[in-house]
Amino acid sequence: MSRNVIEVQDLSVAYNDAPVIWKLNLSVKAGSRTAVVGPNGAGKSTLIKSIMQLVKPLSGTVSVEGNTHKSALKNVAYVPQKGEVNWDYPTTVFDVVLMGRYVHKGWIKRPSKTDRQIAHEAMEIMKMVPFKDRQISELSGGQRQRVFLARAIAHDADIYIMDEPLQGIDITTERLIIETMKKLQSEGKTFLVVHHNLDTVPEYFDNVIILNKEVIAAGLIDEVWTKAHIDDAYYEKSVEPWMS
Ligand code: ADP
Repeated sequence: MSRNVIEVQDLSVAYNDAPVIWKLNLSVKAGSRTAVVGPNGAGKSTLIKSIMQLVKPLSGTVSVEGNTHKSALKNVAYVPQKGEVNWDYPTTVFDVVLMGRYVHKGWIKRPSKTDRQIAHEAMEIMKMVPFKDRQISELSGGQRQRVFLARAIAHDADIYIMDEPLQGIDITTERLIIETMKKLQSEGKTFLVVHHNLDTVPEYFDNVIILNKEVIAAGLIDEVWTKAHIDDAYYEKSVEPWMS
């Protein structure tokens, strides 16, 4: 049995007093590829942001490798949704990828030759070397996602948390991301990924968390990826869980 690298206990989050996720209990196994699925507004991004300590919970705890403090996140590479980034910011592909190293250096110290080498290798993996001097504003959706992935790889964390990395990208980039994810998993990395295409869940992931404001089901794909659970999550709830 592999250990849990992320544990969420009794987590409830509200925006402006309106709860959006309610008493979530879940865990993510070390070395897994875990998908988070659920309809729009189910609270998937809110769960991810809670783990990244970007939103403050109403109640409950989140721990990463047993640590509830911000320091635990040094070992987490976070890929936010593409829409959450200002792509007009005047910076190059290489500089964004190099940012993956800052977690190790802080913002003050200049990146070393080794940092630049690691960033270069990350760009090679995501096939972005030919674009290294390009402004990020000039990239396609798929290329932007490759840059994000390269930055996460440069971070060299053990845990990757990604919010809809396959949204709005070309099929070549999708395949590259999945291949890279599987390769990194074989090296012991853990993935927690918000995913919207239900058809590809069993092919791309080995574990799943099915969410709709509360946890509908969570565990190995082979055990919990059933029509009944999917219907349960996607069928409109007549009563909010916090009212029942
Ligand atoms: P998902 O990722 O599953 O689509 P989200 O976590 O983004 O769901 O959102 C869950 C609910 O919380 C939605 O109803 C959304 O409108 C609301 N919400 C998300 N972010 C905010 C925010 N910053 N302020 C107010 N409401 C929010």
